[in-house]
Amino acid sequence: MALPLMKNYVNGEWVESNSKTIGDVWNPALGEKIARVAYGTKEDVDKAVAAAKAAFWEWRTTPPLTRARYLFRLKDAFEENFEEIARVLTTEQGKCIDEARGEVRRMIENVEHATGVTTLMCGYTLEDIAKNIDCYGHRQPMGVFGAIVPYNFPGMVPWWFLPYAVVCGNTFIVKPSEQVPMTQTKIFEIVDEIGFPEGVINMVHGSRDVVNAMLDHPDIEGISFVGSTPTAKYIYERCGATGKRVQALGGAKNIVAVTPDADLAAGMPSLITSFFGCTGQRCLSGSILAPVGDVADELIEKFLFATKVMKVGNGLDEQTAMGPVVSAAHKERVLGFIEKGIEEGADLILDGRDFKVPDYPNGFFIGPTIFDNVKPDMTLACQEIFGPVVSIVRCKDLDEAIELVNTRGFANAACLYTGSGGAAREFKYRVKPSMVGINIGIAAPMSFFPFGGAGDSMFGDIKGHGQEIFHFFTDTKVVIERWF
Ligand code: NAD
Repeated sequence: MALPLMKNYVNGEWVESNSKTIGDVWNPALGEKIARVAYGTKEDVDKAVAAAKAAFWEWRTTPPLTRARYLFRLKDAFEENFEEIARVLTTEQGKCIDEARGEVRRMIENVEHATGVTTLMCGYTLEDIAKNIDCYGHRQPMGVFGAIVPYNFPGMVPWWFLPYAVVCGNTFIVKPSEQVPMTQTKIFEIVDEIGFPEGVINMVHGSRDVVNAMLDHPDIEGISFVGSTPTAKYIYERCGATGKRVQALGGAKNIVAVTPDADLAAGMPSLITSFFGCTGQRCLSGSILAPVGDVADELIEKFLFATKVMKVGNGLDEQTAMGPVVSAAHKERVLGFIEKGIEEGADLILDGRDFKVPDYPNGFFIGPTIFDNVKPDMTLACQEIFGPVVSIVRCKDLDEAIELVNTRGFANAACLYTGSGGAAREFKYRVKPSMVGINIGIAAPMSFFPFGGAGDSMFGDIKGHGQEIFHFFTDTKVVIERWF
């Protein structure tokens, strides 16, 4: 039986790409192909942009509250389809079903937050800036915006941007990751049912050709990107060259430090989730565990114990605590980092290389892996691994842990487990990453706070969601007015 082919959604219709390049979509737990996706072309992008541009004027003149009502209906429809979206997500991406549910919940929260447009999009005014002269700043939508997104959160990430762009009166094009196109296709089936005006929301599948066509298209006003740092940098530079607004969120190397007075029993479940949740494929995942001072031996013993009892398997099984990585290629990449760690002299205290899950011999599984005595300049401590590999860097004091955080280049998130308010203040005050967790292992801002890092983890200034996103998707037009 032929595998389903993912279609583009353009101008309110499902359309096939004319591309001859077709990629495979995999179930990573089974190691089996489950669908196909065309790697779209410049022509596909041109059609989507033309539809979005044509829809813009009518949509921008629709009152904001009327636009928000589409989102209210969409929220209800997402709730009705909640479990189905989560199951599609786990099937193609591999994360545990509960993690997928959490992701869908976060996606819906962005729709909910965007419905606040009638207060969040307001401008500001001041009478009498000079004798008999008043001044107004209106926030106006700009036109067509687009999002280019990664494989690790195929449901949520486009929705860090889309609902805000659209509720502000812009029109939108999403390019999902070619590795996981099914989740957004399922979501767009629901979008289609809501009956947004044709052309307001569009989706084009594909990889580099679609991205480049979006970056170069003169009728796209701005791009929201989330993915690895090299791609983020490329997107940022190319948008600069073509004069677009851009927010480009990149990779991470997150450190989780633990002080001797931390409550290890209370903190252990979230510490484990930080490193192994979503199989380490979160931009907020802990990657370096940094015991401070004499807590190291006790922490490592307890962390190792909690890791070993974790069930690894198919994410659709409710008992599974950690699923596979997304692809065979990514598995090879992560195994390469493990080899490098051994070669550079770190101590491998838990080896996940030959890990087998009995019922799923072909799945892309890697067992939880832990290195002790990693040095700050080793590859393990510098590069993003994006898998279930923990590097323990022992620090003599909090200063050394903060120094470790601030010398990574990446500056997405940093966490501290501690019983000391003073240590917490010192840490959150001095670390460079923009998302900080105190006795929290995944420092994930909710939709009403901004999401994004600093340093090599973010190019641009306005982050994902939060209140600032209303600035990204609008131009503030200032009117200075006098009547004689
Ligand atoms: P990726 O950079 O490989 O791909 C992201 C998107 O860019 C995809 O849609 C892909 O098709 C496109 N792309 C990839 N290479 C390209 C190229 N050379 N030219 C044009 N387009 C290209 O990232 P990924 O592997 O899909 O996702 C994992 C990465 O995303 C990790 O580095 C992770 O840290 C990061 N991420 C960051 C955040 C954040 O908030 N900062 C959130 C999620 C994921």
